Amino acid sequence: MSRLNVYEPGFLSQRPYRSGRTVIIAGGAGFIGSNMGARLISEGDRVICVDNLETGRQENIAGLLEHPNFAFFLHDIIDPFSIEGPVDRIYNLACPGSPPKYQRDPLHTFKTSVIGGINLLELAEEKGARILQSSTSEVYGDPDVSPQSETYRGLVNTVGPRSCYDEGKRGAETLFHEMHEREGVDTRIARIFNTYGPKMDPEDGRVISNFIVQAFTGQNLTIYGDGHQTRSFCFIDDMLDGLIALMETENSFGKIDDPVNLGNPGEFTIAELADIVLELTGTDVGISYHDLPQDDPRRRCPDISRAGRLLGWAPKIPLREGLGPTIEYFREELKRKQRLNRQVS
Ligand code: UDP
Repeated sequence: MSRLNVYEPGFLSQRPYRSGRTVIIAGGAGFIGSNMGARLISEGDRVICVDNLETGRQENIAGLLEHPNFAFFLHDIIDPFSIEGPVDRIYNLACPGSPPKYQRDPLHTFKTSVIGGINLLELAEEKGARILQSSTSEVYGDPDVSPQSETYRGLVNTVGPRSCYDEGKRGAETLFHEMHEREGVDTRIARIFNTYGPKMDPEDGRVISNFIVQAFTGQNLTIYGDGHQTRSFCFIDDMLDGLIALMETENSFGKIDDPVNLGNPGEFTIAELADIVLELTGTDVGISYHDLPQDDPRRRCPDISRAGRLLGWAPKIPLREGLGPTIEYFREELKRKQRLNRQVS
């Protein structure tokens, strides 16, 4: 890690920061977190990125490290920490989101949501900061209704391979809700549906990154199950707009700490997604079919009417449009990795 702008006491007073807010982004080197950091810096905020680099990547924040209003703090949120000076906003975007990644160390995944959530809530309480929890469509489990609205309570296995993530995120919602009710912490809960775009890890293991990387490296696209299961994919820029709108709204139409779905309701089967990726990458690799993982949700589609009512938000970028810059990003990222490998060998 570059020595530039590593967080240390004094950061807040030394920086040439004059206006805007001080924002902590837990998980700030991850896919959504690093895009959020870049956005907030460009809008004049001062950002402290807290990340243990478990799935977050140094590459994602390389362009931010030299910015005078950005600091990186290598830290795991399951351990308490303090930040000196005022903090206005905390985005909790820390937790591996890809099934193969969050299943590598299920206990740590669970602790990240629950113990990490407690640590961040206590920091928010101490600082009087507003805090947003990135919850997930996984709180609905393998839903038996579609689309899923926030009032649907879900169908979740407590002891399956996805439980460490799903139940950790459900527990965190409870924590955020209770800290709002009992301690008056200003909390927001976003239920994030599948999101994609630049800065995804090529080795993430989720479907969009797998398909694009496979297409570019001449491998068959791996469809799990028969490909009839659906997902609804939201482009990162739309997701950032939704998250910031939820964080910043003062609208009290409805209870502000109630969870809000954020996602793109355009629903695609995984087989349709495979065809689109083949078409847009201009490749003609084949398809290979693999077993469907246990508890893999059959359908997923957000009802976003609450986000529309509360925030005036709706996604603007359809899947084919968002895949354009995403595919270009992966093309460049794979080339960069090849160059690095050549230098090493
Ligand atoms: N999937 C697939 N091939 C892959 C990766 C995932 O067919 O290489 C399927 C997976 O079984 C699921 C869907 O694509 O039905 C979305 O999976 P992902 O891991 O991207 O996210 P999830 O929504 O399941 O957390």
